[in-house]
Amino acid sequence: AKRQGKNTWQWHSGLKAERSQHSVKLRHDLHTALNENQFEIHYQPLVDAVTGRMRSVEALVRWKHPTRGMISPGEFIPLAEQTGQIIPLGLWILKQACIEIADFNAQRERGLRVAVNISSLQFIRGGFLDDVRRVLAETGLPPQLLELEVTESVLLDGAEPVIELMETLKTLGVRVALDDFGTGFSSLSYLRDLPTHKVKLDRSFVEKTTTDHRIAAIVQGVITMAHHMDMIVVAEGIETREQQDDLARRHCDILQGYLFAQPMPLADLKKLPDLLPVN
Ligand code: C2E
Ligand code: CA
Ligand code: CA
Ligand code: CA
Repeated sequence: AKRQGKNTWQWHSGLKAERSQHSVKLRHDLHTALNENQFEIHYQPLVDAVTGRMRSVEALVRWKHPTRGMISPGEFIPLAEQTGQIIPLGLWILKQACIEIADFNAQRERGLRVAVNISSLQFIRGGFLDDVRRVLAETGLPPQLLELEVTESVLLDGAEPVIELMETLKTLGVRVALDDFGTGFSSLSYLRDLPTHKVKLDRSFVEKTTTDHRIAAIVQGVITMAHHMDMIVVAEGIETREQQDDLARRHCDILQGYLFAQPMPLADLKKLPDLLPVN
């Protein structure tokens, strides 16, 4: 048994070394990726739970690596955060999303809103507010059509400056949504303190509402409480009709997930009807 244990350990550490070598290489590649335009933004629709109409889109970055193909943001965003490259990358994403959605809106009667994920490092860094102002001015996207998705980790270094920043964004007309709610240390008291207008229930909850009555109770509680605080609730990761019906029945306002649409390039978004057929 001892020997087996040792082998297991060796196997694990070998795997670890391989993984870290892999990330050293990726980290290096991130440097050239921005200069060589290897990033692309895909957009995933969010639909009204009652009418099924597209209400906004979430911008999700994609890395088309020249030799490895598509690399998921779940893999490279944490690396970019470690190296600090998230700052120029995050700014590029913000600007690119605003440019593309302003372009999209030029051909429509009603403007579509875009939600951009903002890393905590990017959000709490001095200068972020100026970046947002500049990007809006340069791209012409109305501030009301920009939403920023942040997670509760923005609060790690103290709440006050963050709350102030959110208030300022709000006066500009830019909205802030609390992403991944229900993961990490999410506490309902954040909802009381943060000037956000929207909470996004994490997929890990959505997955279980139809099978786990305790999770369902939490979800129902969050929805009810958020509504009492005049916030909108989004459920992400809706994959089945059952989940759609369940969340709609619980008066969740907005739904997002593969059931309605996958994230897609701008060109495909342009071809979508306003009312999305459910797959
Ligand atoms: P997130 O912000 O929670 O984004 C939702 C993720 O769930 C996306 O994965 C989306 O493609 C995926 N998703 C949407 N609907 C479904 C569904 O029905 N089922 C399942 N299984 N998944 C669904 P993606 O694009 O791989 O992004 C992963 C994470 O990477 C994001 O999680 C976000 O934390 C981060 N990320 C993505 N784009 C950006 C970005 O532009 N900036 C920053 N800072 N982070 C980003
Ligand atoms: Ca998000
Ligand atoms: Ca999320
Ligand atoms: Ca999530």
